[in-house]
Amino acid sequence: MVQVKSPRELAQMRKSGELVARVLIDLIKFAKPGVTLLELNQLAEELTLSFGAKPAFKGYLGFAHTLCTSVNDQVVHGVPSKRKLVDGDIIGLDFGLVFEGFYGDSAVTFGVGTVSERAKKLMQVTKDSLYAAIDAARPGNTLKDIARAIEQTIKPHGYGIVREFVGHGIGTKLHEEPQVANYEAGASNLQLRPGMTLAIEPMINEGTHRVKVLADKWTVTTEDGGLSAHYEHTIAITENEPEILTAWNSVLHEIEKSLDSETIKRGAYGQRGSNPS
Ligand code: MG
Ligand code: MG
Repeated sequence: MVQVKSPRELAQMRKSGELVARVLIDLIKFAKPGVTLLELNQLAEELTLSFGAKPAFKGYLGFAHTLCTSVNDQVVHGVPSKRKLVDGDIIGLDFGLVFEGFYGDSAVTFGVGTVSERAKKLMQVTKDSLYAAIDAARPGNTLKDIARAIEQTIKPHGYGIVREFVGHGIGTKLHEEPQVANYEAGASNLQLRPGMTLAIEPMINEGTHRVKVLADKWTVTTEDGGLSAHYEHTIAITENEPEILTAWNSVLHEIEKSLDSETIKRGAYGQRGSNPS
C-alpha cells in the first residue's frame, strides 16, 4: 500500500529532511583531499546524534555504518574505509536518518579538488535528471512520468541508467512502497497523489548500465570501471510544485561555482524547494 501523509506527518518529514540536508552540507564542506571515508562517516554519525536523530542505514540489513561513500566507479552503498580522498575523485555521499519516527534520505555526488570535464558532465547530467524527475512528480502523473523524465535527460548523452537499484517511498520506514524506477520500462503506472513522499534517486554510469557487487557484499561498482554518479532527494507530492524536503542544492552550487576557492559561504542552506538554476 502506498501511503499518503497527513499535514502533520508532512511537517515531521520536513524536519527530518532538513536535518539530512544539514548533515550532507557539512560533509560536503569537510570532504577535502586527505580526508578518509571513515572520517566522513564519523562526522555524519556525530552530527546525526547531536540533532537527537538516529542514523537510518546503520544496522539496516547489517550495514555497519552511518554513511555510504561511493568513490569514482562505485555506484552506491560504498562502505566507508581508511581510503583518503585525493584530488580528482568524485564522491557520492548517501545519507539517511530517522527523527521522531520519520525518515529522510538524500544523496549527492561532487568533485574533490579539480575533476575532469568528463566527470563534471556526468555529475551535471545526473543532477539534471533528478530535477527533471522531481518536476514530473505531480498529481495525475505516474511513476512512468518520473522515469521517463530521467531517461529523456540521460539518453542523449549515451550514459547507462542503473536498473538493479531504484528509488522508493519513504516515511515511517526508510523504504516504503512504491519502488521508483529510473527507467520507464521498469516503472509502474501508479498515479501520484498529494501527500505521497518519495525518495527519487537516479544512479547513472558513464558507460554500461551494468553493475557488480564487491566482496564486501555492499559496495556496488560499474561493471566496466567507468565513473558513476548518484543524486537523491526526499520529496513530497503536493497540489502544486513538488516540495524538496532534503534541499542541499544551494550549498552545492556555491561549491561548484568556487571549486578553486577555499571560501564557501556558510549558512546558505535551507532554501527549501528552490529550483536549481
Ligand atoms: Mg539514499
Ligand atoms: Mg534512498
